[in-house]
Amino acid sequence: MLIVFLGAPGAGKGTQAKTLAQKQNLTHLATGDLLRAEVAAATALGLAAKAFMDRGDLVPDDVMIGMIKGRLEGPDSDGILLDGFPRTVAQATALDEALTTANTSVDRSIFFKVSEEELVRRLAGRATCPNCQRPYHDTFNKPQNTDKCDDCGSDLIRREDDKPEAVRNRLKVYATQTTPVLEHYQKVGNLVEVDGEQSIDAVQEDLAAAIG
Ligand code: ADP
Ligand code: ADP
Ligand code: ZN
Repeated sequence: MLIVFLGAPGAGKGTQAKTLAQKQNLTHLATGDLLRAEVAAATALGLAAKAFMDRGDLVPDDVMIGMIKGRLEGPDSDGILLDGFPRTVAQATALDEALTTANTSVDRSIFFKVSEEELVRRLAGRATCPNCQRPYHDTFNKPQNTDKCDDCGSDLIRREDDKPEAVRNRLKVYATQTTPVLEHYQKVGNLVEVDGEQSIDAVQEDLAAAIG
């Protein structure tokens, strides 16, 4: 099973991916998380990616395609949940090619539809666990203990790219570079839209129905 999560920054992909991956024994591949791990470990890839990420620009396609390709094979689970990839049509096409070679394809792509106003509210209040990457929110999704991750106890942080200027750029980049990916999957015929503006629990229910 291969599921792709699509949607703007702040749409709730990471929040839903954590729960769905646990429930359905899927490997959660989040390219943002993988990149942040590279940055934290100060690898050559991380150092090259950091400036793009801090500005809210996309990391170049060749880097991203290379990063995801090696991870599509033989996961120790019942499937893969791709969160944050593909973000350009070039990435989507490269993914299709890699999957075709492996005699498989994307089973479902899910678009989390959320208004720009709500996205801004969500990103402005987001706190993230730097260890397990679970997202929280100051008002919509508070941790049980102030500023500590429920899952691993780490101190929560504010992502550099959740500052207003980077958020503005990320929404612009999403609109120009990522929305064409929706059309790509619409043509393929596996795209399902979920109303991401509902409560976390309601989105989770719709998601389960969409995946079947
Ligand atoms: P969001 O919360 O906006 O969905 P992510 O954690 O998925 O953010 O991504 C953070 C940053 O990592 C992006 O702004 C971008 O710089 C980089 N990134 C993540 N995935 C990709 C990708 N598939 N292609 C290019 N850049 C990416
Ligand atoms: P993405 O991975 O798509 O960038 P996140 O899952 O990190 O999005 O969610 C962005 C912010 O919005 C986080 O602070 C999260 O706690 C919050 N959030 C996620 N889903 C909802 C929801 N359905 N209603 C309200 N807030 C949400
Ligand atoms: Zn954690």
